[in-house]
Amino acid sequence: MIWRPYAQMKTMAPPYMITGGHGVYLETPEKDLIDSISSWWCVIHGYQHPEMVEAIRSQAEKLTHAILAGTSNEPAVKLSEKLTEWLPGGLKYHFYSDSGSTGVEVALKMALQYSVNRGERDRRMMLSLKDAYHGDTFGAMEVGGSPDYRRLLNHRSMRLNVEHIPTTIPALEEAFYRLHGQLNSFIVEPLLQGAGGLKFYDIEFLRRARQLCDEFGVLLIFDEVATGMGRTGYRYVSDEVAPDILVLGKALTGGCIGHSVTAANEKVFMAFYGDDPELAFMHGPTFGGNPMACAAALKSIELFERDDYMSKIRKIEEIERRELKGFAAPKVRDVRVLGPTAVIEFEDRKDVLGYRQFAYDHGVHTRPLGNCIYTMPPYIISESELTHVLDTMKEYAETVR
Ligand SMILES: *Cc1c(COP(=O)(O)O)cnc(C)c1O
Repeated sequence: MIWRPYAQMKTMAPPYMITGGHGVYLETPEKDLIDSISSWWCVIHGYQHPEMVEAIRSQAEKLTHAILAGTSNEPAVKLSEKLTEWLPGGLKYHFYSDSGSTGVEVALKMALQYSVNRGERDRRMMLSLKDAYHGDTFGAMEVGGSPDYRRLLNHRSMRLNVEHIPTTIPALEEAFYRLHGQLNSFIVEPLLQGAGGLKFYDIEFLRRARQLCDEFGVLLIFDEVATGMGRTGYRYVSDEVAPDILVLGKALTGGCIGHSVTAANEKVFMAFYGDDPELAFMHGPTFGGNPMACAAALKSIELFERDDYMSKIRKIEEIERRELKGFAAPKVRDVRVLGPTAVIEFEDRKDVLGYRQFAYDHGVHTRPLGNCIYTMPPYIISESELTHVLDTMKEYAETVR
C-alpha cells in the first residue's frame, strides 16, 4: 500500500487515479481536471508537453543515468553552462541533487562548512523565518518555521541552532545586532513563503538582509525551489537581490523529474578550493546530475525563454487581479495576488475542508494549504481556463458560512 504524503491514512479522502495528462489537464477515469496548483507548483509547461517529453525520451535512448563523481555527461555539463549565463549574481558553481529538500541540505551544509573552512568555528547559528518551509529532511526541517512540518522536532524538543524571525526589518536588525558573531547564514524563501501559508512580504526586507549579511559576514541563502521561474512575478527574486547560495528545484525540470541545483557564488566556492582535501565538500547524491533530469531542465529553461514566459506570467497576474478585485465573502480573511500566485485566505482551517470536492465537481484539481485556497497554475493556462479556476475559488468561498 502507498503510504501517502502529509496524510492521516485512516481519515484521508480516497485519492483519485491519474491516468494521463495533457496541457493544464490531469486525466482521471471519470473526467479531465484543470490542475490549478501545477502538481505542487512545478508543472509550469503543463502535462506531456511534447518538447519536454521528446527531450527526455531522446536522452533516455542515449544514457539514462551515470555517476557524476569522476565522470561527466553532456546534459549535466550543458546545464551548468546554461545556468552560468541564466542565473544572476555570479552564481556559477552548481551542485546537483535529486530533490529540493536535498538541495537545501546541501546549501546548509555548504554554508556551515564555509565557516569551518575559514576558521570561523563560532558561526554555527542559522537565521530563518517564522512560517518558513524548506523541505522535509532534518536540516531543512530545522530551518523550517511552520509548526505543521516540524511536529517531530517539537515533540523531541531538540536543541536547535536556528532562530526564527518574522518578516519585519526591525526584527531582522535586532537578530543581526544580537547574534552576528555566531551567525553563519540567513535562509529565506524570498518574497513568497509557500508551504508555510502562502504569505507574501516586502522586497525591502531582503535588500536590508543583503546589507546586514555583508556588514556582518553572514551568508545569504535563497531557497527559490518554489519561487524560481516566475512564481513571484520576478523571474527569480535573485534577479533583484543577490544571494550567496541559491537553491532551485520544482519547476527547474518543468516538473517532469525530481532534480535540484544548489548554486554558489565565487566567495563561497573559493572557501572550499585548495590543495587540502579537508576543505572539500563531502556530499554526493546518487542521482545528482542525472542526464534525463538535466536534459529536462535545459528544455524547461529553453521553453521559458523562447516562449516568453515572463509575459505569460504577467498576463496571468493581470487576470487574477481583475477577477479577484474587491472580492469578499463572510469567512474570507484576505485575498492576495503576487505574480501568478492567487490566494484566498479563510478565517479557519476548517473553512477550506470542502474545497477539494467542490473543485473536483467543477473540473478543477487542487489541494488547500492551511487555511488557504489558491492557484499557482501552469503558465500555459488559457484565459478561459484560468477564469474558470478563479470562479471556482470564488464560488466556493461564497458557500462557506
Ligand atoms: C517544495 C519545497 C522544498 C522541497 O523540495 P522537494 O523537492 O519536495 O524536496 C524546499 N523548499 C521550498 C521553498 C519548497 O517549496
